[in-house]
Amino acid sequence: MSESRLESPSLAAPAARPRVLSGIRPTGAAFQLGNYLGAVRHWAAMQDEAECFFFLADLHALTEVPDPERLRARTRSSAAELLAMGVDPARSAVFAQSHLPQHAELAWVLGCLTGFGEASRMTQFKEKGASSSSGATVGLFYYPVLQAADILMYQADSVPIGEDQRQHLELTRDLAQRFNARYGQTFVVPGPYVGKAGARIKDLQEPGRKMSKTIGGAGTLWVLDEPKVLMKKVRSAVTDTGREVVFDVDAKPGISNLMTILSEASGTPVDDVQQRFAGAGYGDFKAAVADAVVELFAPVRARYAELMSDPGELDRVLADGAARAGEVAETTMAAVRDRIGLLPPSVRVPAPL
Ligand code: ATP
Ligand code: MG
Repeated sequence: MSESRLESPSLAAPAARPRVLSGIRPTGAAFQLGNYLGAVRHWAAMQDEAECFFFLADLHALTEVPDPERLRARTRSSAAELLAMGVDPARSAVFAQSHLPQHAELAWVLGCLTGFGEASRMTQFKEKGASSSSGATVGLFYYPVLQAADILMYQADSVPIGEDQRQHLELTRDLAQRFNARYGQTFVVPGPYVGKAGARIKDLQEPGRKMSKTIGGAGTLWVLDEPKVLMKKVRSAVTDTGREVVFDVDAKPGISNLMTILSEASGTPVDDVQQRFAGAGYGDFKAAVADAVVELFAPVRARYAELMSDPGELDRVLADGAARAGEVAETTMAAVRDRIGLLPPSVRVPAPL
């Protein structure tokens, strides 16, 4: 391998705009409030200043062993939800992960550079593996490596994800540095996690854990829930002892979570929320939280219904996104295959003399 090729940073995105990549699994009944506030809302906001790639992580969804028909339908409806939440396919590439086989290919390559102990330390694996009724699978164990492949494939400068994914991003950075050190500069090392305090939304019934679309239940606010369902769920949210609306995550996890939700949904600092409800009861406070969430989701529901009335158009969006993403993915993989020493399929091995 020539020195000049080793040093060439040409795989990186053109410097004009940073490149951003993020994904979401087409699992659960719909996307939930945490997905919107912790991730998709930020995606929608950065589409002008960054070159964005957003994908539906259908390969990652397989760790839940979904029903095949359901996964297919959910992948398309997830595309509609993303668009309804503000992702714009005219500005961003929106695609299904499985449409680009390079993701699974790169995951294998990176897996061969990942320590077993290193992967074993991933807390999501430990948590999800422990709670899975059928036991942890190799797929679940491999999940962070596939996620690293998703990110590094696009030479992303930054990865807007929720706080729950911070550890996986650290692994991704380590793997990029390791690959570059061993094989020469190939991957952009993405920036570290930068999150805003409070962006992690907790389950309304069990505020000790994050809201999650695969767990679902009465403590999950779906972006497609009807207003009266949202109101009921917020009204039934577990609260804490005492009557004060005070932000204290340890002593009052339920109320603090609702305060975070109201703050994020209405764009009001938590301190202001606390001041506004000083002396008010939990009832008035919960009504305000419910109103803010209903208002936040109303346009999403309306736009979703419009988009779902034209599935052909959604498929065209995904095909167009895959074509745009595929150009970058194939450029990266051609370099990776070369650097790690895979024989190109077009080369004929000379017969022995
Ligand atoms: P699943 O239960 O299928 O893992 P999930 O709700 O955790 O679903 P993901 O598809 O894993 O959703 O993640 C999509 C994005 O949403 C990620 O960037 C993740 O960090 C973010 N996210 C998920 N849940 C929350 C939450 N409760 N608060 C903030 N961000 C979240
Ligand atoms: Mg998750």
